Amino acid sequence: MTGDTHDHGHDHGGGPVLTYADDSVHDRNETGHFELLADALKELSIEKGLVTATEVREYVEFFDSRGTEKGAEIIARAWTDPAYKERLLSNGTAAAAELDIPMAGAELVVVENTGSVHNVIVCTLCSCYPRTILGLPPDWYKSKSYRSRAVNEPRAVLKEFGTELPGDVALRVHDSNADMRYLVLPKRPAGTEDWPEERLRELVTRDSMIGVAPARDPA
Ligand code: FE
Repeated sequence: MTGDTHDHGHDHGGGPVLTYADDSVHDRNETGHFELLADALKELSIEKGLVTATEVREYVEFFDSRGTEKGAEIIARAWTDPAYKERLLSNGTAAAAELDIPMAGAELVVVENTGSVHNVIVCTLCSCYPRTILGLPPDWYKSKSYRSRAVNEPRAVLKEFGTELPGDVALRVHDSNADMRYLVLPKRPAGTEDWPEERLRELVTRDSMIGVAPARDPA
């Protein structure tokens, strides 16, 4: 585990062992409190006139309709335009804005996977995620198991996603929060040197931008 780092500490409890390929990613016995709290906050906010029910509905509709296309657009641009890639890595928020992708008040930090460094993102506290870029997070991303294990045993978690990292590749785990969202810039697959940007987008998967898998191999 040499070279594994983690941005900042929360209290990480060990989660149960699970396989991401089946339905067991859903946290059990965890519904109730937070859902009730969210409903209460929503109802109170509407009652106090802070938001309207229509605004809440439109917000949900916007994120429900958002997929990973914007993320693929960013990554394929970075793969084909070195100057854009440089701007993306130095100021993700501004580089996303260049492509008309808003960050909704959060800062975007883009981390690059290379032959010597592999990055993976998590939100240990809840489910912070670059939603304007990738849409809603998958259920496993929000599970208690992923949130704790991605920090405690990231190599084992990656292995469950089918991603085996060589021992000499440093692994960095980035803990997202309300103000800071991460996006992984995966390695450009070999054999795509002549590919145009539009075609490269098809190789950029959601999981590769979270860091649990590489980009798709060219067929
Ligand atoms: Fe969160």
